Amino acid sequence: MKVIIVGGVAGGASCAARLRRLDETAEILMVERGPYVSYANCGLPYHVGGVIEKESSLLVANEQLFREQFAIDVRTRCEAIEISPKEKTVKLRDVATGEVKSESYDKLVLSPGAASVRPPLPGIDLPGIFHVRTVPDVRQINEWIEKGSVFLSGMHKYSGFQTIRPKTRAVVIGGGFIGLEMVENLVHRGFEVTLVEMLDQVLPPVDVEHARVVEAYLKKHGVRLALSDGVAGFKQAANGAIDVETKSGKTYPADVVILALGVRPDTTLAKKAGLEIGERGGIRVDDQMRTSDPDVFAVGDAVEVKDFVTGQWSLIPLAGPANRQGRIAADVIAGRKSRYRGTQGTSIIGLFGAAIAWTGVSEKMLNRIGDTDYEKIYLYPNSHAGYYPGAKPIAMKVLFRKSDGRLLGAQALGEDNVDKRISAFAVMLQMGATIYDLEEAELCYAPPFGSAKDPVNFAGMIAANVLKGDMPLSHWNSAKTGFLLDVREPMELAVENVPGTLNIPIGQLRARLGELPRDREIHVICRSGQRAYIATRMLLQKGFKAKTVSGGMLSLAHNYLFDTKKG
Ligand SMILES: Cc1cc2nc3c(=O)[nH]c(=O)nc-3n(C[C@H](O)[C@H](O)[C@H](O)COP(=O)(O)OP(=O)(O)OC[C@H]3O[C@@H](n4cnc5c(N)ncnc54)[C@H](O)[C@@H]3O)c2cc1C
Repeated sequence: MKVIIVGGVAGGASCAARLRRLDETAEILMVERGPYVSYANCGLPYHVGGVIEKESSLLVANEQLFREQFAIDVRTRCEAIEISPKEKTVKLRDVATGEVKSESYDKLVLSPGAASVRPPLPGIDLPGIFHVRTVPDVRQINEWIEKGSVFLSGMHKYSGFQTIRPKTRAVVIGGGFIGLEMVENLVHRGFEVTLVEMLDQVLPPVDVEHARVVEAYLKKHGVRLALSDGVAGFKQAANGAIDVETKSGKTYPADVVILALGVRPDTTLAKKAGLEIGERGGIRVDDQMRTSDPDVFAVGDAVEVKDFVTGQWSLIPLAGPANRQGRIAADVIAGRKSRYRGTQGTSIIGLFGAAIAWTGVSEKMLNRIGDTDYEKIYLYPNSHAGYYPGAKPIAMKVLFRKSDGRLLGAQALGEDNVDKRISAFAVMLQMGATIYDLEEAELCYAPPFGSAKDPVNFAGMIAANVLKGDMPLSHWNSAKTGFLLDVREPMELAVENVPGTLNIPIGQLRARLGELPRDREIHVICRSGQRAYIATRMLLQKGFKAKTVSGGMLSLAHNYLFDTKKG
């Protein structure tokens, strides 16, 4: 059996190596248009930031390793330019010489990835404007940055030459995860960074209240944000800089511009070959990664996948899914019955020592598809036992089905151990867990690492209280217009309070029930929701209509204070 794999990075390289492990006899040819196979594109922003110092560290495996360890014929700088599914041949072009050869296949795997979006804006090809996709892209960015401004060109080479280098300015366009990683790394490298984003929030997959916290955090680290503003074009300024002009009429001068406007699946070959393209513009595959032609498989950023929670077709360009899909395609080619379960979009981004991570659906996605069978909770547990030094709060939002408690999604941000919480949610979500399963999850605990009730358990317990009716829940949008009871201590109110709220500290509540209305819903607040829950239990048992405001004052801050439009 002869298998040709197009694309030699995440999906392609995983497929090739797995196939060899399963089948010693297969003839495997992997072609890669670029100069490298199996490089770490996820590490590229950190090479610009200088965190990953050597370019060679990004090269995870090379052609020699594939040849020697796996007996795979690897050809770099070799582009697949045409597929003939009828004849089962692929035309391959040597990028250096232009020579074209035809190779036959029994099975073909496409893992061509995605292309960076590069709209035809005026001036987009000016020198100093880059995107970040490959090792050569990053090499060009580094060379450009190191060249300095036109005034300083070459001076960095002279040791002992004292010169004041003007502060360099960078504009990053696009507030998705690659954009934000580039922002962080350019700040790390000493740039004044402006982030221009057309939407009214960064990180489109997360809900706006989480995005607001991220935006506040970016501002705290000196990043200038230009939200709700699209780029109109670029102009060469007289001093060698680039003027980035936006649709609102603003101009941001930059010494380097990074385009991070998202990616679109690379379907050039697939379209030409007549393979089915899906409604989202990716190659349509079944759950065994087969395209509309049973002998052609496709994996990675180029394909459309089913969203694990909504069941809808979606484009989720992430390394984990690409690797797993490559492995599944190899399994199926080797005669195994592996199937892809769908993508949850589990992601994480590190930002200036903090992290934001998510898995599953967001609330805005549920609203977009008209799904109302959900409830959400906000919680702010410590990353580990509060009495052990170094604990940091984690802001969490968890979404679950009202009807059966099934976990739908979770988002978390904080400065410590955010990743392990979202990873736990991600695994449970994929296993079809309910919030009752979260309650029961047995997770690692010792004081430096967690709490006896881990944040994941805690989320389950709160959500279960809600669904069992033990803790009727409300959120700030309705609570603000209802009767608010604050059960915090007066000194806490001195720091922050909601005007018009009745304050009865929790310790006095039993004695002061007469001050509360029996004919109205009482929305109970405290700092995080914990004391409010205790008060709610007490009031419910005394016959009041009480509800706990999810997340208390912390979620008020989370939902409103960081709203840049209001502040
Ligand atoms: C800067 C950056 C940071 C990222 N960070 C993360 C992260 O932190 N976490 C995460 O999960 N994901 C991250 N990703 C996304 C992740 O890298 C991709 O989802 C993953 O690499 C997709 O794998 P793939 O095999 O589909 O495509 P790729 O890995 O992009 O590989 C496709 C390869 O196919 C080659 N090719 C295309 N057409 C042809 C052709 N006709 N002939 C021959 N070769 C061809 C291309 O040259 C390319 O090298 C990041 C991506 C980038 C660019």
